[in-house]
Amino acid sequence: MNSLLTTAAWFAALGPPAWFFLGPLAAVAVVALLALWRLAGHERQIKRLTTWAGQPGDALPPEASGSWSAAFLALHRRARKAASQREALREMNDRFRLAIAALPEGVVILDAQRNIEWINPRAEWLFGLDTLRDTGMPVAHLVREPEFIAFLGMLRETDAAPPPLLVRPARSGGRTLQVRGAPFSDGRALLLIEDLTQLDRLESVRRDFVANVSHEMRTPLTVVRGFLETARDGMASASPEEMAHYLETALEQAHRMQRLIEDLLTLSSLETGAPPPEEAVDVAALLAGVKTDTLVLSAGRHVITLENSGPAILTGNARELHSAFGNLASNAVRYTPEGGQIALAWRKLADGRAAFSVTDSGIGIAAQHVPRLTERFYRVDRGRSRDSGGTGLGLAIVKHVLERHQATLTIESRPGAGSSFTAAFPVRRLG
Ligand code: ADP
Repeated sequence: MNSLLTTAAWFAALGPPAWFFLGPLAAVAVVALLALWRLAGHERQIKRLTTWAGQPGDALPPEASGSWSAAFLALHRRARKAASQREALREMNDRFRLAIAALPEGVVILDAQRNIEWINPRAEWLFGLDTLRDTGMPVAHLVREPEFIAFLGMLRETDAAPPPLLVRPARSGGRTLQVRGAPFSDGRALLLIEDLTQLDRLESVRRDFVANVSHEMRTPLTVVRGFLETARDGMASASPEEMAHYLETALEQAHRMQRLIEDLLTLSSLETGAPPPEEAVDVAALLAGVKTDTLVLSAGRHVITLENSGPAILTGNARELHSAFGNLASNAVRYTPEGGQIALAWRKLADGRAAFSVTDSGIGIAAQHVPRLTERFYRVDRGRSRDSGGTGLGLAIVKHVLERHQATLTIESRPGAGSSFTAAFPVRRLG
């Protein structure tokens, strides 16, 4: 409007004088020239506007006069608003992607053809994929387990999420994965992958443990029950010697069950209990107690020695330490034939630590068994362990007690030549 008024003012100012002094033709010429001049001005502004609009980014609009200036400014404001909205959207998108990337679960986004559209680092790791190499690839070409392919099929057929899938893909290095899927926009699907390896392992440990305990209890129970049935059905016909033998066997088996339950309770309290109250344990008294137990168990069948040249005080739990040292010593008695030697020792080590060791001249252990000895119910010779009153839990208890005292267990052994079990305690526990 402004520019229209200016043009009209120019026409009014120049038209009539030109008519008056130079005649109508000249007036028409002046007006035409004026119109052309104004038109050229507008043409120039349009060109500048086009150039400016074509520039990338947030450049300031060119200088303009009259109504063009207002138009330029309005356009500039609109362009800036759009740019800042785009920036906010980009930031939100980035944040969203970072959040998904940081999820502890693996996330895979599949397009309608089930090609990989996006994967987060966790999914790369769990599925053994690579963003650069595998984006755009059909996921079924990479994870080929039949159950996974069937799962993808279910994801396509229904709008609802199929039940979670448990799978151990060959390319994920033996891990147990739980995959959940959810269809979303335009036939896309989201896969959420969770690593359940640890849980799966715990579950199988638990199953093995229950099976082992049941197995261990069954034999003694069968013996006791057999005795009771025989007693009920006519023990009268048994001779007093037979009767005494049956009773003895049943009692032995009852003791075995009791030992098993005691060891199980000890293990359970070591595994779940609070850290032991720490006290300054008098090592000499502890060793004397362990030696007495060993002598009683050996009943004169072995030569038992004790050396105490280590620190006088060991910080820890006396009851747990007695149980661990006692277990090592009782193993030496049980796996050393009559006449053998058993040496108990408490010594300072060259690196400042101190160690309790039990060395025997017994049957020894073949190297392949050594790493597994502290597993619950692991035995080299099941029959021999049972016959000597073993529960298969002794070294598992030792391991737990030592862990609770930050001590390490070293086992050296040669079949036929004897074994040496050494528990080394950290410097800060010694006094
Ligand atoms: P167990 O009650 O069977 O003795 P442990 O957990 O104490 O259970 O020991 C596990 C196994 O380690 C034993 O069954 C035995 O085969 C082996 N073992 C432990 N100590 C000795 C030892 N001093 N000499 C030979 N074998 C041993």
